[in-house]
Amino acid sequence: MTETVDVAIIGAGPAGMAAARDLKALGLRVLVLDERAGPGGNVHASALDRPQEAASVLGGDYARGVAEARGFAASGVPARYGCSVSRVAGETIHYLQHGRLHRITAARLVLATGAIERPVPFPGWELPGIMGAGAFQLMLKQSRVVPAGDYVLCGTGPLVLLMACQLLALGSRPLAVLDTNSEAAPLGIGLSHLPTLARNAGAVAKGLSYMARLRLAGIPVISGVTRLEARGSDAVQAIRYTRRNGSSASLDVRMVLFHEGVIPNTQLGLALDCKHRWDEHERCLIPETDAYGESSRQGTFIIGDAAGILGASAAPHSARLAAMKIAQDLGCRLDDEAGGAVEAARRALNRERRFRAFLDRAYRPGLAFAAPITDETMICRCEQVTAGALRQAVRDGARGPAQAKVFTRCGMGLCQGRICGNVVTRLIAEETGLRPRAVGGYHIRFPLKPMSLIELADELPMEEPVDEHIA
Ligand SMILES: Cc1cc2nc3c(=O)[nH]c(=O)nc-3n(C[C@H](O)[C@H](O)[C@H](O)COP(=O)(O)OP(=O)(O)OC[C@H]3O[C@@H](n4cnc5c(N)ncnc54)[C@H](O)[C@@H]3O)c2cc1C
Repeated sequence: MTETVDVAIIGAGPAGMAAARDLKALGLRVLVLDERAGPGGNVHASALDRPQEAASVLGGDYARGVAEARGFAASGVPARYGCSVSRVAGETIHYLQHGRLHRITAARLVLATGAIERPVPFPGWELPGIMGAGAFQLMLKQSRVVPAGDYVLCGTGPLVLLMACQLLALGSRPLAVLDTNSEAAPLGIGLSHLPTLARNAGAVAKGLSYMARLRLAGIPVISGVTRLEARGSDAVQAIRYTRRNGSSASLDVRMVLFHEGVIPNTQLGLALDCKHRWDEHERCLIPETDAYGESSRQGTFIIGDAAGILGASAAPHSARLAAMKIAQDLGCRLDDEAGGAVEAARRALNRERRFRAFLDRAYRPGLAFAAPITDETMICRCEQVTAGALRQAVRDGARGPAQAKVFTRCGMGLCQGRICGNVVTRLIAEETGLRPRAVGGYHIRFPLKPMSLIELADELPMEEPVDEHIA
């Protein structure tokens, strides 16, 4: 039998947890589904696993996330983990758990699916030993693993600095941090955002403390890196970097952890045909939503980082706005206090937006935004399609990602274009002279993730057994 709830929430990160708590408090039947083993999302992944050492190893923010996840787990809000949502058809949500397919129906759907690390192709990035720093951080949060052998952290943004400090706390030292920020004078940006910085003094102090810790530990931070090239045969053996002043050098490494920020995880919204637009500043697709997070698909809300990157502290505010609108739509009576909560959430979200605008200007992804992509660079790692092959496809007549997929198999692999999608849009735009907005993204189809045959068989509608009558 298919279960029915008022609101299904996909994602148990800060946004999903907050929306679920608000909606339950308003008297609605909710169910949260998440593919991880517990609550916390990307930022507080594995929060319930080893809470006792959270603060000393992963820092104060993570420790607060542990408390939040524990509170959520104890709150009685229905949530299921290890559940990957594979398809949504009308009001029916299909999810896989323990290798079997389950269905629920919900009058409203909330996508709180968070972010993914910005994929940044550079020569050699497909070699084993090269990973997203955030992806590695998820393993670190789960089991406190550290890289074996010499390694570097590359990229820009607060997560790179935070991660370097988390690794230091575990007794692991990167050879260097290769800083790819294309903003040469972040301090100048800070000066032009002084009132915002003053209102976010805690976050600023945190950033400064990360840098101080690196300096104290004697980790070299090599700034102005404009190009990277990973070398190796079966796995990465060296990383060559070029700096803004034209100088180049190489470091022998067994691992490269790379990160130039995060972008919204748009797969589910795209598959549901929710309208998306190309964000010129962040150079990625983001969903179009109204002030309450409702997408162009009526009854489907997108909140938290999935709706545009604002960070974990902003997520509960976007969740509250969506929860209030959903509750109203479903006939709950909202009192004056609820009206005040909406206004407070809106103000808080605007404050977060101003701080994010500063962060986005102060940390510009130098490789993703400014480095040319050479023909030899792999774009689709699943199907081994290079930038050169993609450019050739455009010369052969492919005008958009869907045609490029047909010509080259780009985006047809296991990740279904999740990693290469935005880069393909950018390359086609560069080759055709069209704006990325006009090029658009892949048309994402269900199922979202690879499924086994038995799971696929579960998706088939059950047929009534036919009685055979023998005349
Ligand atoms: C790898 C990574 C590491 C990060 N580390 C940090 C950090 O250390 N500090 C920091 O401040 N910020 C970090 N961020 C950014 C941070 O995750 C976000 O700002 C914040 O978590 C946003 O909260 P959210 O609730 O919107 O999404 P998230 O916390 O990302 O939660 C989204 C949840 O949706 C689930 N989900 C997605 N798709 C499906 C599906 N199809 N079926 C079921 N479940 C699904 C995911 O499993 C995840 O738990 C990181 C981001 C990434 C991608």
